[in-house]
Amino acid sequence: MGGDEFIIILTELDGDVDQAVEKARKGADNIRNYLSSPCRIEGYEMHITPSIGVSLFPKQGKGTDDILKQADAAMYKAKAAGSNEIRFFLPSMQKAADEKLRLTTDIRRALLNEEFAVWYQPQVNSSGDLLGAEALIRWHHPERGIIPPGTFLSIAEETGLMWDIGQWVLNATCQQISRWSRDGLLVKPMVISVNISAKEFSAPAFVQAVRTALDSNGADPNHLGIELTEGSLVSTGKDIIEKIITLRQLGIKFSVDDFGTGYSSLNYLQTLPLNTLKIDRSFVNRIKDGTQDVVLVDTIIMMAKNLGLEVIAEGVETALELDYLSRKECTIYQGYYFCKPVEVGTFTTMLRSGSCKM
Ligand code: C2E
Ligand code: MG
Ligand code: MG
Repeated sequence: MGGDEFIIILTELDGDVDQAVEKARKGADNIRNYLSSPCRIEGYEMHITPSIGVSLFPKQGKGTDDILKQADAAMYKAKAAGSNEIRFFLPSMQKAADEKLRLTTDIRRALLNEEFAVWYQPQVNSSGDLLGAEALIRWHHPERGIIPPGTFLSIAEETGLMWDIGQWVLNATCQQISRWSRDGLLVKPMVISVNISAKEFSAPAFVQAVRTALDSNGADPNHLGIELTEGSLVSTGKDIIEKIITLRQLGIKFSVDDFGTGYSSLNYLQTLPLNTLKIDRSFVNRIKDGTQDVVLVDTIIMMAKNLGLEVIAEGVETALELDYLSRKECTIYQGYYFCKPVEVGTFTTMLRSGSCKM
């Protein structure tokens, strides 16, 4: 259907609905088990986490469009449940399917009407001194207020609107970097990082688009960072290393986002010219009272050190987490404990004072 979407039709399952459901579930289970066993491609071990949505016909769907829309809605439920899941379409999902269509139209309008904004979340040392920030998109929807990226980016990705949105964020961030530099607010080595999705990064035009955004705004590339999720590092095409090298040569820094969630091999990581690992929030939040779970955090910090990379702990929410991380010699933090993402004006004030404590 799409780049990574497939349709399988299981015909004549059973005249009895319960039996048909059972057989469809077994079929889906077989497919999932088969796909999710690891495979080796060019020496790398790959893991696929398929999400499967099932629609039964003629019981539920009426025409081809209905059946596909319903299977799609069910698949999104499966994705939302954390991938590698199977979901059947239920009438209650119809609303979600309609909502998706409406959001797609709204995103197109939002791009034309400049309804998007970039917010900045400080990255700090243990005392709250500013070291940089992550640029995060927000949507000021005229009727619904502020919509967080989790609600609309996957739809944008799916409907081919992600490139335009990403370009908008990149351009807005470069413009802001240029303004802050002009006003003497961005001291070296302060970096403002943007998130780039796998599809954007693998587009042939990506490197040139970054150059254009920097040049047309007069932004110093040394202040720009790019965050790629660990998952997208694994799924991006072959020329990924060349692209990173080219952009690094311009002065741009690279971070691995959501590290610990993406099955990259150490061997592969070592071949990439990266600057920073960002420990995923889910690991940071396991630091509660020194339970077994924290061993993962220790391991990631140690591994980053051995690979010569900086570490940023994402989603630091408590003094206890901060205390633990700083004892493990993590030096950069991002999280609600220090500051939530803020609008550009607020972040400018923080830059003036050099601290997220205003
Ligand atoms: P991310 O890149 O991992 O960004 C961190 C997310 O964690 C942000 O959510 C941030 O607000 C949230 N966060 C930070 N500290 C804390 C904390 O202490 N506690 C909790 N509970 N959350 C915290 P946000 O802004 O909703 O963004 C979600 C995701 O959307 C981002 O995850 C990123 O993957 C994606 N995203 C955001 N903006 C863009 C963009 O411009 N382009 C692309 N491609 N993706 C974006
Ligand atoms: Mg990020
Ligand atoms: Mg992250």
